[in-house]
Amino acid sequence: MLPLFTLTSDAFISAVRRFGIDRFQAARIYRALLHQGCRNLETAGGIKLSADTRRRLDASVVRCTGNITRQAEEKALLKFATRLKDNAVIESVILPMHSHETLCVSSQAGCRMGCVFCETGASGLIRSLDTSEIVEQVYAARFLLKRPVRNLVFMGMGEPLDNLDAVLAAIRVLNDPRGFDIPLRRMTLSTCGLIPGIRELNRPELKNLNLAVSLNAPTDALRSQLMPVNRKYSLLDLKDALKAHPTGRSGQIILEYVLLKDVNDTPEHAHGLIRFAQGLPANVNLIPFNPGPSSAYAAPGPHVIAAFRHALVRAGIFVRQRASQGRGVGAGCGQLSTRHASS
Ligand code: SF4
Repeated sequence: MLPLFTLTSDAFISAVRRFGIDRFQAARIYRALLHQGCRNLETAGGIKLSADTRRRLDASVVRCTGNITRQAEEKALLKFATRLKDNAVIESVILPMHSHETLCVSSQAGCRMGCVFCETGASGLIRSLDTSEIVEQVYAARFLLKRPVRNLVFMGMGEPLDNLDAVLAAIRVLNDPRGFDIPLRRMTLSTCGLIPGIRELNRPELKNLNLAVSLNAPTDALRSQLMPVNRKYSLLDLKDALKAHPTGRSGQIILEYVLLKDVNDTPEHAHGLIRFAQGLPANVNLIPFNPGPSSAYAAPGPHVIAAFRHALVRAGIFVRQRASQGRGVGAGCGQLSTRHASS
């Protein structure tokens, strides 16, 4: 069998040699299946194969193995769930942006990082996804959207750097110009701060992959309360790793900061964040907290958010405030959960 979503075009071309398919035809087939989204080779134009070869190849190529369902919609936002072959369930979200859509991709079912404000973390880790299960979300989104996805953020369920090999293999497939053809500059990987993984990304071939770090607190004491990963990797070490990280075409690293009412939203916290950002090519994404059904936290009021934002802007930091898209349907940042997905 040929697990299509794990294969770059070069690997696919080698693999189909056993069907007697030459390099040129193989590249066309790969393009038809992944770039043009042909569901089978019968509908792919311009491919010269005998009926028997076409039938044998179609029967060998493994595409979707999960069962995909639309979960919820809010305006143009769409959350969908994939029930995997072992019944684990993951969620993915198609987010409307100004001129395009962005797909928020999951890399694990659940997560073991235990960030206290995150619904995914509350489930614990069920398991990491394999490469095919990561890529399949992008393939499924194409059919739900009726057009290819152009932007990806690895910010769905799970910590991508806790499943680095599968995520990097998926990125190679998704970036392949003969296939999905999604440029690295249109992909963002978000981490809670696993420093060895950040160092692993420091490779020339990944320099245009955008990096986002979920920071959420400017002191080790508070960050260790909110994000257990900080007990192992301190803010000082994190900053050193970010200083050494290449910023590629974007020229920036994104610091994500989830604003929690009365927890990390004071002027002192803003100044701590400014100090952390100093010396880094950093932009800040401010994300007013999206409460889940059992959440102990709340979002600050609009005046507190505005004051926090203005403090950063006055310090010369470029700030984006993430709209609370999908909050009402459990599709907001930090709200994805194996528990909703299974219901
Ligand atoms: S915020 Fe990210 S790393 Fe932390 S528990 Fe949630 S999914 Fe895991």
